[in-house]
Amino acid sequence: MLHIGCHLSNAKGFEAMGKTALSIGADTFQFFTRNPRGSQAKDIDPQDAKLLCELMATYHFAPIIAHAPYTLNPASADNKTRDFALQTFADDLKRMEYVPGNLYNFHPGSHVGQGVDTGIQLITDTLNKILEPHQHTTVLLETMSGKGSEIGRTFDELKRILDGVKLNRLMGVCLDTCHISDAGYSIARLDDTLTEFDKQIGLKNLKAIHLNDSLNPQGAHKDRHAKIGEGTLGTKLLENVINHPALKHLPFCLETPNELDGYAAEIKLLRSLYKE
Ligand code: FE
Ligand code: FE
Ligand code: ZN
Repeated sequence: MLHIGCHLSNAKGFEAMGKTALSIGADTFQFFTRNPRGSQAKDIDPQDAKLLCELMATYHFAPIIAHAPYTLNPASADNKTRDFALQTFADDLKRMEYVPGNLYNFHPGSHVGQGVDTGIQLITDTLNKILEPHQHTTVLLETMSGKGSEIGRTFDELKRILDGVKLNRLMGVCLDTCHISDAGYSIARLDDTLTEFDKQIGLKNLKAIHLNDSLNPQGAHKDRHAKIGEGTLGTKLLENVINHPALKHLPFCLETPNELDGYAAEIKLLRSLYKE
């Protein structure tokens, strides 16, 4: 069974996202916990959260992914910016306890000229302050394309963050196919790339896949997503990704430039290409 979904708007709450996912043939989805500027999130409606949990159980959903605002930077040189990231992460994780057993994904951050070592230290410091031993959410670092001074463009950088986190049993990695191609890893030579991932991070720590085509060639460090089959990766390589024995059990989430009907068509296509 292929577990696949796409990024959805959270404007109408939790249960509405579950119903939208069902309507497009999805059994997982991703949403932003709040708007990208990271402003105040709406109050959680516990009943709405409960209804989503029931829907997910009834329809055998794979874990869903809450995505932190991508403007947060726990590796900033500015105290206030770092603290804002920390407070927002902590608040999001508190909210995620209403939908226990799911995933919270964030972009590790940008070192903004301070250097990778300092950036990694600042990110691990933040994680060591926000993770709670009894939380029910797995926190994921996303693999990044390496635009600007982004940290997480190599598996080694992600490994170093995880190594510095005391409660890293509560963490994992979300692999974005557009981002790793942009970062310089080959999707055409998927086995080699996954062998490298396994050596550095361990495939057991891979918890979700962002399935995107890329507008740019391998190593471009641009981070521009394309629709499935309309980028430099192409449908065949992405078919290999969903069918790879090390990946095929994971939740796949589309972040392609689509409206709902476009997502529905991509989900249908990918389900037809999946080998049980
Ligand atoms: Fe992301
Ligand atoms: Fe992504
Ligand atoms: Zn991206």
